[in-house]
Amino acid sequence: MSAQISERSATLPRIGHYIAGKPYAGSAARSAPVYDPARGEIAAEVALASADDVDVAVRAANEAFHAWSQTPPLKRARVMFRFKDLIERDMDKLARIVVHEHGKVLSDAKGEIVRGLEVVEYACGIPELLKGEYTEQIANGIDAWTMRQALGVCAGITPFNFPAMVPMWMFPMAIACGNTFVLKPSERDPSLSLELAKLLKEAGLPDGVFNVVQGDKTAVDALLDHPLVRAVSFVGSTPIAEYIYSRGSAQGKRVQALGGAKNHMIVMPDADLDKTADALMGAGYGAAGERCMAISVAVAVGEATADALVERLAPRVRALRIGSGLDESVEMGPVVTSQHKDRITGYIDDGVQSGAELVVDGRGYQVAGCEQGFFVGGTLFDRVTPSMRIYREEIFGPVLCVVRVRDFASALKLVDDHEYGNGTSIFTRDGQVAREFAHRVQVGMIGINVPIPVPMAFHSFGGWKKSLMGDHHAHGPESVRFYTRQKAVTQRWLNHDESTGAEFAMPTH
Ligand code: NAD
Repeated sequence: MSAQISERSATLPRIGHYIAGKPYAGSAARSAPVYDPARGEIAAEVALASADDVDVAVRAANEAFHAWSQTPPLKRARVMFRFKDLIERDMDKLARIVVHEHGKVLSDAKGEIVRGLEVVEYACGIPELLKGEYTEQIANGIDAWTMRQALGVCAGITPFNFPAMVPMWMFPMAIACGNTFVLKPSERDPSLSLELAKLLKEAGLPDGVFNVVQGDKTAVDALLDHPLVRAVSFVGSTPIAEYIYSRGSAQGKRVQALGGAKNHMIVMPDADLDKTADALMGAGYGAAGERCMAISVAVAVGEATADALVERLAPRVRALRIGSGLDESVEMGPVVTSQHKDRITGYIDDGVQSGAELVVDGRGYQVAGCEQGFFVGGTLFDRVTPSMRIYREEIFGPVLCVVRVRDFASALKLVDDHEYGNGTSIFTRDGQVAREFAHRVQVGMIGINVPIPVPMAFHSFGGWKKSLMGDHHAHGPESVRFYTRQKAVTQRWLNHDESTGAEFAMPTH
């Protein structure tokens, strides 16, 4: 704990855990600061769970598992229906909590809650989703069917950039499937998870089915190593995703680990460039670029396209309205911490040094009244090349790189050669080119004249290559498969007077 925090800790609000239906203080040996990024001030202190705290949460979840997994899916769905109503009732309050700790603008915070809410709505259909397959008479007098059963205790480890949506990609489906859940939210914006826990309780969820442990690597390792945790869903950066996947799966757990991204938008010469520039603004600078589906690379096909695109982008980037996320006229808020701000400005320095053309420089951006806030202005680079760090690495800030290529084939190769494969899009008026792109490109989520192609809750979300480790994507039908195990039953009822005798060969028709 830093000296600054120990001095202030007596007056700071303390964010703790939530276990077995109530707040849980835990060992309280370690804590971390939580900032208001717009003001650049420490707003609270979050407890960092010890391995013992995690054990208490996992045991509570394990104890609740039997009764919950035996609760009929229809009754589990009814809890989800009530949870949905409560989120809608408290929407404004929840969104303000997100803005306060993350920094994104209020309308965007509401947007992420709605995208999470849609997963809750999908989970309301769980009786239908859990139906198995049935074949009568697979052989004479024999029937077969499959059923999907819950796994046990599932854990979710989530990133800072969507404190509402990403946890809600996970726990509504896990719980609706009959599992119990331990969420380890990001320690940078931990408060929303506790509000969601309270709403689940109000919705009638039995104690212990949903638990929250705040923490860092210590808590994560304790979840990965705990023998009662059966499955781990992770969303965050790729190096941590790789670590989670290897450590969790080495212990026989089911793991889905969604990682980082470097999403390209291909701009063909026939695209409507005004509309494309508008789309790039939202996709590149929305949430200050802190989105795993943000577009960080615009690939302009042809010199004329590139010139015309940069000409349209530059004034738009300069005109971005930046400030506190609670100010309704603002389009882009601060980034999450001062360390992250320094990391982003370090990338901008690096881009300049490596020879990219800095068209709009967001370094040193000041917001009146929020002088200590963690602001980075919108930044635009042109003539970026694949060997540059600003091209290869995920910056996760309001920095858009324009790469110039000769033709469609070179654009496609660029996307395919990148180690990340989360999302990509193409802007064109040519249906054949668009179809070819969607068919051939080595990326998980594709937009055609759609800049951020995030699948809806009833489809599944996931990237390819280093953007996802594991076999299942998040939410939608894939999440039902991830959070359940299939069992296949074959049955025969013999008549009393019927005897088949011993059979030693493989049964065949
Ligand atoms: P992060 O990887 O730093 O942290 C994610 C989670 O891992 C947090 O809960 C954190 O406490 C934990 N963690 C951090 N370091 C750890 C360690 N050494 N050992 C064990 N656990 C550790 O990610 P972040 O900065 O919170 O979020 C931004 C990243 O998340 C970006 O890379 C972004 O692309 C990615 N992201 C991906 C998706 C997706 O769907 N693919 C969605 C959102 C965010």
